[in-house]
Amino acid sequence: MNFQLTEERQMLQDSLRRFLADRYTVTARNKAIADPSGYSSAIWTQLADLGVLGALLPEAVGGYGGAGFDIATIFEELGRAGVVEPVLDTAVLCGSLLCGPHDAQPLPRDRQYLERLIAGDLQLAFAHGEPASRYERTWVETTATVGGQDIVLTGRKSVVVNAEAAELLIVSAREGGASGDRDGLSLFLVDPKTAGVRMQGSALLAGGRAGEIELDGVRLSPSARLGAAGGAAVRVESALAAAEVALAAEALGAMETATRLTMDYLTTRQQFGRPIGTFQALQHRVAEMLIEVEQARSAVINAAGHLEGAPQVRDRHIAAARNLIGRTGRHIAEEAIQLHGGIAMTAEYELAHIAKRIVMSEHRFGDADTQLERFIDLSAA
Ligand SMILES: Cc1cc2nc3c(=O)[nH]c(=O)nc-3n(C[C@H](O)[C@H](O)[C@H](O)COP(=O)(O)OP(=O)(O)OC[C@H]3O[C@@H](n4cnc5c(N)ncnc54)[C@H](O)[C@@H]3O)c2cc1C
Repeated sequence: MNFQLTEERQMLQDSLRRFLADRYTVTARNKAIADPSGYSSAIWTQLADLGVLGALLPEAVGGYGGAGFDIATIFEELGRAGVVEPVLDTAVLCGSLLCGPHDAQPLPRDRQYLERLIAGDLQLAFAHGEPASRYERTWVETTATVGGQDIVLTGRKSVVVNAEAAELLIVSAREGGASGDRDGLSLFLVDPKTAGVRMQGSALLAGGRAGEIELDGVRLSPSARLGAAGGAAVRVESALAAAEVALAAEALGAMETATRLTMDYLTTRQQFGRPIGTFQALQHRVAEMLIEVEQARSAVINAAGHLEGAPQVRDRHIAAARNLIGRTGRHIAEEAIQLHGGIAMTAEYELAHIAKRIVMSEHRFGDADTQLERFIDLSAA
């Protein structure tokens, strides 16, 4: 495995890091968080102009990346700056769902959506999780039944990130099989304004917004189906794998920031006539944080390098990375807060937000315990 970034990725990383350092200030971020959409549309357009969205998607659909290392490079920077814009949901999750499997050609309709996504002109949300699905990836109780010429969706979707801002929802629903089965799962493109779609939005703890969605006999044309009827599990699993690599890299970037802020604080905060960072007890704790960041970096590189691999091997490496980052991320966030003392609590200070991003990232797509169980299952299979 090559650990060096290619020249193009290095350039993208440098320009994204500069852009976010200049523009993504605490004030700008807090403004984005307070916006009714949960993000800044100005920043979104600029991210698109910088090529960030295109770099997350393959050339075959008009992008210029899409590999595990493209995703990891970008998300490490987004995490470093604590970005709340829905890049993960619109571009990685929904972008992957629209692209479909590597060897498939998206329909012209889906290609057009992908072009608009890359241009920064389309917001999407993946309506997949349900009140009873917990971290089960194919647990879907929402049904898609035939009603005359139409497909009729009925069910509920929970914590659909970016749902209120999304022009289109990608909704998973069951056309056959039992709730947890891989077979029988389909995806549908749903305009949230369609009759029968009800949405209740709320703010997320670490920035951004999500919606609770009720689908009450939503009638769709069969052409709204994305991919083959009943065969969406592969598409869903590979989109979730890409999203988990993104999330792991994002947590890594945030862990780096938390550690850097802590080191800065310890070298400036004076107690007993000297910087508190001169006390060995605190140096040991920071040394532990630095080791954990390096472990997390290795885990992200390993997961990113396996994203294009066979599903079972891919998912095993991703589960390992997410388990490690879930544990070490929480430890770093807690240490950073404690070492900062009281100022860690203020919303005007960077760390308060970064620590929340780290802690909450563990709870998406499976926490550390779930990832450990997944790793054991995948290793035994
Ligand atoms: C809203 C709020 C309510 C609070 N309520 C309470 C309360 O009810 N009771 C209470 O006890 N505290 C409370 N605190 C915490 C308290 O006010 C301080 O935050 C805490 O004592 C740490 O001091 P500091 O913020 O000055 O951090 P700093 O002095 O900057 O220290 C930062 C870190 O370094 C450690 N440290 C500093 N010097 C040394 C040293 N020489 N050796 C080893 N470690 C060192 C500190 O323990 C801390 O972890 C509250 C804080 C907040 C924000």
